[in-house]
Amino acid sequence: MALIVQKYGGSSLADVDCINHVAEKVVTARKQGHQVAVVVSAMHGETDRLMTLAKSIQEQPSPREYATLLSTGEQVSIALLCMAINNKGYEARSFTGGQARILTDSRYKKARILDIDADALEKELAAGRIPVIAGFQGKDVNGDITTLGRGGSDTTGVAIAAALKADECQIYTDVDGVYTADPRVVPQARRLNKVTFEEMLELASLGAKVLQTRAVEFAGKYEVPLRVLSTFAEGDGTLITFEENNAMEQPMVSGIAFNRSEAKLTILGVPDKPGVASSIIGPVSAANIDVDMIVQNVAADEKTDFTFTVHRDDYHKAMEILGHISNELGARVVLGDNKIAKLSLVGVGMRSHAGIASTMFKTLGKEGINIQMITTSEIKVSVVVDEKYLELGVRALHSAFGLDAEPSEEFDPQLSRV
Ligand code: ADP
Ligand code: ASP
Ligand code: MG
Repeated sequence: MALIVQKYGGSSLADVDCINHVAEKVVTARKQGHQVAVVVSAMHGETDRLMTLAKSIQEQPSPREYATLLSTGEQVSIALLCMAINNKGYEARSFTGGQARILTDSRYKKARILDIDADALEKELAAGRIPVIAGFQGKDVNGDITTLGRGGSDTTGVAIAAALKADECQIYTDVDGVYTADPRVVPQARRLNKVTFEEMLELASLGAKVLQTRAVEFAGKYEVPLRVLSTFAEGDGTLITFEENNAMEQPMVSGIAFNRSEAKLTILGVPDKPGVASSIIGPVSAANIDVDMIVQNVAADEKTDFTFTVHRDDYHKAMEILGHISNELGARVVLGDNKIAKLSLVGVGMRSHAGIASTMFKTLGKEGINIQMITTSEIKVSVVVDEKYLELGVRALHSAFGLDAEPSEEFDPQLSRV
């Protein structure tokens, strides 16, 4: 008998039929003799609907009220799923984040989990009941409701698995595992039976939203065995492994991620002297804007050009800040572009294979795709390109690095949404 935490995403909870289907899967695991704790997201589209609703009343609502509103989606799911499980003759009880004693900091919209007191859930399991916990939410020290950022139910799932010392955390979604690239963009993408924790962390943080980055971080920190599976199809899915891999035996590139939620800002002709990077990035960070890629280039006239990317939601605020800085520094001009995409190659095999970046640049060049920025690290190469080339670029790279599934194979990523 194992202790399993099953997390079901919004795509698995689209309607009443889906909820009944999820209840059936939970009950099946129980019939197999396992103890099961369940974590759920809001029903498909519900969080987006709540966000729009908030915006229709106030452009910038207080983060506290925003979190209180957004967390309601998951509360609907826990109650409905418990009813569906109870209907099948098994005893399930719902838990909000607070009831499950998930303590977070007070960043209402992107809170971090600080502690989980597993007592209540352990008692529930010991009594033979199935706890169904609302994902994406917690409570801070003042008892206020907090939310964990988009996709945060994955993190709840892994955190609950860590707190309960579960044998496995199973992330059920609408695709039957982690693929070499998002199968919605690359139809030839292949499912990976295994992916290393390091690669998964890079893929998630570079845009593969199949797992939230923090969920992968959490799994790494507490060594939670993590698996991504389909709610609607049978199969073993993808296991996130912690074993040390011999990079020589790994493919050069394991996966490709992309992100279209960034924007690029450039300040041209600032004096090339110590402290200039800090006087540009400092005020941006002070406004709570995360900066991602940074490129600085010195021109012949002892002036420097500085380009960086931020989340697209922060674009206008960052442009405004840069306008002020530009005046102070006597810069020539400030430019901005919020129609960019970042494409990234990820693979632990890069440690022992040379020439990956050059193959990447050649492939994009052949397609007539201009590279605007580049960053590399030990196991990834990222480039920024015009957003209109995202699909073309990802598909070209997928083939160039030999990731396309064999033409004879049957590809069915088991996508259940269109
Ligand atoms: P859920 O509602 O279950 O949380 P998400 O929409 O958050 O589901 O995540 C699943 C989606 O992630 C898939 O439908 C797929 O389009 C997308 N995705 C992005 N990159 C990948 C990848 N490398 N492998 C699998 N799915 C991916
Ligand atoms: N419901 C939240 C969202 O849509 C959390 C999640 O689905 O993981 O982002
Ligand atoms: Mg998700």
